[in-house]
Amino acid sequence: MEPILTEISELQRLGAGLDGRPPHEVLAHAVERFPRMTFATGFGVEGCALIDVIARHSLRVDLFTLDTGLLFPETLELWRRLEDRYGVTVRAVRPERSVPEQAAEFGDRLWERAPDLCCSMRKVLPLKSALAGFDAWVSAIRRDQTRERSSTSVVEWDEKFGLVKVSPLANWTSADVWSYVRTHDVPFNPLHERGYPSIGCLPCTSPVFPGEDPRAGRWRGLERKECGIHSRSERSQLTPFRKERPGNVRVG
Ligand code: SF4
Repeated sequence: MEPILTEISELQRLGAGLDGRPPHEVLAHAVERFPRMTFATGFGVEGCALIDVIARHSLRVDLFTLDTGLLFPETLELWRRLEDRYGVTVRAVRPERSVPEQAAEFGDRLWERAPDLCCSMRKVLPLKSALAGFDAWVSAIRRDQTRERSSTSVVEWDEKFGLVKVSPLANWTSADVWSYVRTHDVPFNPLHERGYPSIGCLPCTSPVFPGEDPRAGRWRGLERKECGIHSRSERSQLTPFRKERPGNVRVG
């Protein structure tokens, strides 16, 4: 099937018109315009809320998750719980290499030495493959999460992945999300109640202390707070990488 042709000006108009509308209205409009739509969820509380919205309003949106092989057991359990609760399938999209294969080729615990490369291989490249053939993808990001996300439009062109990106929760706050989840009794990760406001791969996620930024526990000790999926800069490379030898990995 041919990709749907889209003018940037149309996306800007659509984004402006839908900003502030409830997430189900944003998604319903977007699905009508971009029928081949998928949602890449990491099972954060925002993602759980959106799965509820999609199921509650019977929206035709494909669902998948990036199963890096390094997810928390609690996240894996939540994945099953959401599928059972809503009668949906959240497809697993996996990296080319398993964790042991990556360790054999690049050395153990690559995330400690080269997190950009690890995220590139385990998240960004699999996402790029998974999005091929879709007109649009849904993301659960909010503007107030990071400086990088503050300019997110509800509907915009995703230059990095080459398709439309729809962010129905862009103008929601954390309180809005939790209010929705409590009101609709949406399943969520129990780690959120144990000091983990933001949850990614197990080796790169730690609890946060009172007063810290909600994403302070992601890649603690490093400046990076994004895995490269939602960043507009090319910090996380989509270009092929080159390996010199384990323990001395160079991207370029
Ligand atoms: Fe690797 Fe950490 Fe990125 Fe997961 S979050 S892909 S373990 S660097």
